Amino acid sequence: MTKLIFEKSKKGTEGIKLTDEKVNFDFINGKYLNSDNSTILPEITELEVMRHYKELSDKNFCIEKGFYPLGSCTMKYNPKVNELLSALEGFIELHPKQDDEDSQGALKLMYNLQNALKEITGMDSFTLQPAAGAHGELCGMMIVKKYFETIGQKRKNVIIPDSAHGTNPASAAMCGFNIIELKSDDKGLVDIEALKSVLDENTAAIMLTNPNTLGLFEENILKISELVHNAGGLLYYDGANMNAIMGHTNPKLMGFDIMHINLHKTFSTPHGGGGPGAGPVGVVEKLKDFLPVPIIDYDGEKYFRNYNLKHSIGKMKAFYGNFSVLIRAYAYILLTGSSLKNVSENAVLNANYMMNKLKEHYLLPYDRKCMHEFVLSGEWQKEKGVNTLAIAKRLMDSNFHPPTVYFPLIVHEAIMIEPTESETKERLDEFINVMIEIAREVETNPEAVLNHPKNTPVKKVDETLAARKPDLAFKK
Ligand SMILES: *Cc1c(COP(=O)(O)O)cnc(C)c1O
Repeated sequence: MTKLIFEKSKKGTEGIKLTDEKVNFDFINGKYLNSDNSTILPEITELEVMRHYKELSDKNFCIEKGFYPLGSCTMKYNPKVNELLSALEGFIELHPKQDDEDSQGALKLMYNLQNALKEITGMDSFTLQPAAGAHGELCGMMIVKKYFETIGQKRKNVIIPDSAHGTNPASAAMCGFNIIELKSDDKGLVDIEALKSVLDENTAAIMLTNPNTLGLFEENILKISELVHNAGGLLYYDGANMNAIMGHTNPKLMGFDIMHINLHKTFSTPHGGGGPGAGPVGVVEKLKDFLPVPIIDYDGEKYFRNYNLKHSIGKMKAFYGNFSVLIRAYAYILLTGSSLKNVSENAVLNANYMMNKLKEHYLLPYDRKCMHEFVLSGEWQKEKGVNTLAIAKRLMDSNFHPPTVYFPLIVHEAIMIEPTESETKERLDEFINVMIEIAREVETNPEAVLNHPKNTPVKKVDETLAARKPDLAFKK
């Protein structure tokens, strides 16, 4: 049982000597100080301090520890060199209010990153301001709104497929748009006839992910963009996951006008647990002037923050507090170079390999070639009394992070798996074998599958209360 570091304290043990010369006592929380400035801190040796925190960190699951097939989240390897670079003194000591002249290196990095994103996505201009994917969507929807105001059109509807990420309708609704949900067809794609029936002079935009959240490529994307454009609407691309298409196609070629891209997914920043992230937004030529200010510009001599955008929606946030995410993404893009194309090829290959190995054992509702991820259904197992949640918990005891479950909503008992390119075939096989083993356990002894996890620091929790009333206090 883990003890608190205070419980490991033994009077008279020394780790470090706190003396007046060494310590600014102002930095120590008053509750750990006696009136004579002597400290009430644990007395423990340096080695034991290290062991204590290592023991705590071992309770965490992380990409360094094992496979993390969380669909739609793109949990890939984050090269450690990114961390080193993002911690360079010149970057971390930079004050947000420093002049452009004193920040040329940082501005150049941002300018180059904007250009790299233009190259990857085909878009004509980028802002690096939004701090996450959902924030990028909000920015994009604000641009849509301002664009139609500027050209004097009242368009209220945003069309979103029923397979979309929940942030899509949320972002559009926050901007005051009506959401029209579009049913998918039996192939899991946009139903063209259904789309035609909702397109009219009230259509502001359609928000699409391609490949969609089922991991399927919208084959009719050119037809879709033609229909929406003919109705006078704009196409928004949810590019949270670029992992499937880099170097093969891009949103501009598919006919999109606005998009966001999640640097913290495809471009390797550790994420989860709420950030930090980055959701840059790219637009086509005619929407350039609507981007939030400032964008980063270059006049041939100097890099500068350009506030001079005629129709700008304003600022999405005050400063670039997530700058270190931009550094990591830039480092990753430079490091990977033209191999970004291979990243996508391997991500797609890995997903198809796993899908084909698992589809005999789990229902595959949309049995087509997938892109970077695929969605199984746990319905066969549910019939035996073991639902998808129980399968996810069972996986934890085999040292795998569970996949994304119960999303997208259009698949019952969904199990959404995204291996990414950074896993070896051996690791994929290990996961496949455990999944097959679980399917067998469900056949032979379903009861036993329900009692997991047993080996994790925290055992089975109440799903609702754990989220709504987390009990984080230490108790013995
Ligand atoms: C992750 C994700 C988002 C939201 O991105 P955040 O950075 O978490 O706000 C939106 N759409 C899709 C498809 C995603 O996978």
